[in-house]
Amino acid sequence: QAKAAGRNVLRFFEEDMQATVTLRAEMETALRQGLQDGQFLLYYQAQIDDAGCVTGAEALVRWQHPVRGLVCPAEFIPPAEVTGLILPLGRWVLETACAQLTAWSSRPATAHLTMAVNVSARQFRQPDFVKQVVELLDRTGANARKLKLELTESMLLDNMEEIIAKMSALKALGVGFSLDDFGTGYSSLSYLKRLPLDQLKIDQSFVRDVLTDPNDAAIVRTIVALAQSLGLSVIAEGVETEPQRDFLARNGCNAYQGYLYSRPLPPEQFESLNLIGVRSKGLSDLNIHVSP
Ligand code: C2E
Ligand code: MG
Ligand code: MG
Ligand code: MG
Repeated sequence: QAKAAGRNVLRFFEEDMQATVTLRAEMETALRQGLQDGQFLLYYQAQIDDAGCVTGAEALVRWQHPVRGLVCPAEFIPPAEVTGLILPLGRWVLETACAQLTAWSSRPATAHLTMAVNVSARQFRQPDFVKQVVELLDRTGANARKLKLELTESMLLDNMEEIIAKMSALKALGVGFSLDDFGTGYSSLSYLKRLPLDQLKIDQSFVRDVLTDPNDAAIVRTIVALAQSLGLSVIAEGVETEPQRDFLARNGCNAYQGYLYSRPLPPEQFESLNLIGVRSKGLSDLNIHVSP
C-alpha cells in the first residue's frame, strides 16, 4: 500500500518534471522565435525630479506574443536567463533603448531625457560586455552621458575586481550606474563604497507601505541617508500616491518613478505624456519644463 502510494507520488513527480521540461523547451522555442520575428518591444516609464520635471525614462521590455498577447518580463526574463537567450534579448534592449535615446536627442522637447536600462546578471558577466556597449553606443550614435545602467545587488557579489573594472571602463565613457531594487539584496556597506555607482534605487516594496509601516519608513530614511553620505543620488520606484511622494520628498529623496506619474508606456504615448499627462497628475504647482 505504502509502496504503491510511493510509486504514484514518484510517477506524479516524474510527470511534473516532464511537464516542466516540456514547458521550458516550449518557452525557449517561443522566445527564440519571438526574437527572430521582432515580437519584443520597449515601454518607457517616466523618471521625475524634485521639481516635477521628467528627467528621463526607464526602458521596460515587453513581449507582444501573437497568441498570448502582451507578456510581462516576470514571465519571460527568468527563462530567458536560464536558456541564455537573455544575451541576444539584452543586446536588443540596449540597442533599441540607445536608438530611442538618439531619436529623443534630436528633438528639442525630448533632448534632455536620460535612459535607464536594466542589465541582467548573465549579460553583465559576459567578458565582452563593455565592448558590446561601446559598439552599440557607436552604432546608434547615443550619448553615453544620457545612458544609465541598472544593476542589482546580487549580481555584484562575485568577482569584485572584474565588476569594478567593467563599471569604471563604462563610467569613463560617461555611462551612469543605478543600483536597482536596493535594500532587497545583501550588499555590505564596505562593498557599496567601492563600487563606482551614481544612484541607489529604493525598491518599491519599501515604498508601498511607507506611510503605515514604521519599519519601511525607517528603511527608506536609512537608504536616503546612506546615498547622501556616499555622494549618490537616490530614486524611489513604485510611487503610487501623493502622500507617498510627499513622505519621500520630506525625507530627502529627490527623484521618483511610479504610477502616480505614469505607467510604463509605448514610445509615442510616453512622448505625449511628457507634454500633457504629467501636468494633469496634480503637479501643476510644480515647474514642468517639458514642452511641446
Ligand atoms: P524593475 O527594474 O524594478 O522595474 C520596475 C517594475 O515595477 C516594472 O515592472 C514597472 O512596471 C513596475 N512599476 C513601476 N511603477 C510602479 C508602481 O507605481 N506600482 C507598482 N506596483 N509597480 C510599478 P515590469 O515592467 O513588469 O518589470 C519587472 C522587472 O523585470 C523589472 O523590475 C526588471 O527587473 C525586469 N526587466 C524589465 N525589463 C527588463 C530588461 O529589458 N532587461 C532585464 N534584464 N530585465 C528587465
Ligand atoms: Mg529597473
Ligand atoms: Mg527596480
Ligand atoms: Mg523592482
